[in-house]
Amino acid sequence: MTVRITIDPGKCQGYGQCCFEADDIFLLGDEPPVRASADVAEDRRADAERAADVCPMQAITVE
Ligand code: SF4
Repeated sequence: MTVRITIDPGKCQGYGQCCFEADDIFLLGDEPPVRASADVAEDRRADAERAADVCPMQAITVE
């Protein structure tokens, strides 16, 4: 089971806070400014949700 993460390219400004929370999940320097790894295990859900919480643009959705 994997966690589905989407980043709204219309909201993301590339600030990088999500990358500081989990730099193996949120990959900076791609297009849009940040890309989420497609293969995030269920046991990393809390890390992904913490990154979504700190995103100043509320651009991250974790399902
Ligand atoms: S914290 Fe939010 S705005 Fe900043 S790079 Fe990550 S997704 Fe984009």
